[in-house]
Amino acid sequence: MTTTIAVVNQKGGVGKTTTVASLGAALAERGQRVLLVDLDPQGGLTFSLGIDPEDVDITVGEVLLGKAAPDDAIVITDDGMHLLPSNITVTQAEETLVSRTGREQRLRVALDKVADDYDWILVDCPPTLGVLTVGALSAANQVLIPLQAETLSHRGVGQLLDTIHDVKQFINSELGILGVLPTMYDGRTNHARAVIRAIEESYELPIVQPPIPKTIRFAEAPAIGRSILGTSKNHKGAEAYRQVADSLLIGNN
Ligand code: ADP
Ligand code: MG
Repeated sequence: MTTTIAVVNQKGGVGKTTTVASLGAALAERGQRVLLVDLDPQGGLTFSLGIDPEDVDITVGEVLLGKAAPDDAIVITDDGMHLLPSNITVTQAEETLVSRTGREQRLRVALDKVADDYDWILVDCPPTLGVLTVGALSAANQVLIPLQAETLSHRGVGQLLDTIHDVKQFINSELGILGVLPTMYDGRTNHARAVIRAIEESYELPIVQPPIPKTIRFAEAPAIGRSILGTSKNHKGAEAYRQVADSLLIGNN
């Protein structure tokens, strides 16, 4: 059984890409077979795992347009995960996709072809609620929503939940919500704890534990082309993602 998780938040800079890279690496460390999907035309995930997006010939865009099979596009990263990469050409693919039949189903159909090869598929979404993100929600079993624990402004969350609700109603009735993963968390401040409580109460969403601590190590890792599990193996940031991975593994058994 493959579990596909869409990591979604239409706000940029909340830790989506970092979560996909680090959680994927933590699952791979536990011997799981992991595929990461970079759905962001910015190619941040691709870059952060040591692959220059400009050097990528076949992206997730060609796969969505039916011009390439997923296996032709998938590459292997230094962290031992497989990656369906992205680059700026995915912007054009997205524009083309908007007028194509089955646009929202195309990622699911593509991932179905390779799902047997993986225990986990983690999809890194762009900072929009457009056709790419809806495609990810349509392909997923679960949604994980990274949220910065340092800002009280979470105005986009209602809109995101509306989109998830629509996808459940019309496309993917089985879609579940794992919950909110607090990122950039400074547990020393009352403020950060208050933000988490406020999210829990306002949206009635589960909070995924533990919160991911705020540390500069996360910004340093992509420059080396590895996740934090490769660059700062024993750091509390790496350990937090291992704990999230372990709770996913327990939840699946
Ligand atoms: P998104 O994909 O949602 O736009 P990113 O994962 O790219 O967000 O993170 C945005 C920035 O914040 C990056 O520079 C990243 O290194 C940094 N970052 C991510 N998680 C943390 C964290 N827990 N602590 C400190 N910085 C973080
Ligand atoms: Mg990103």
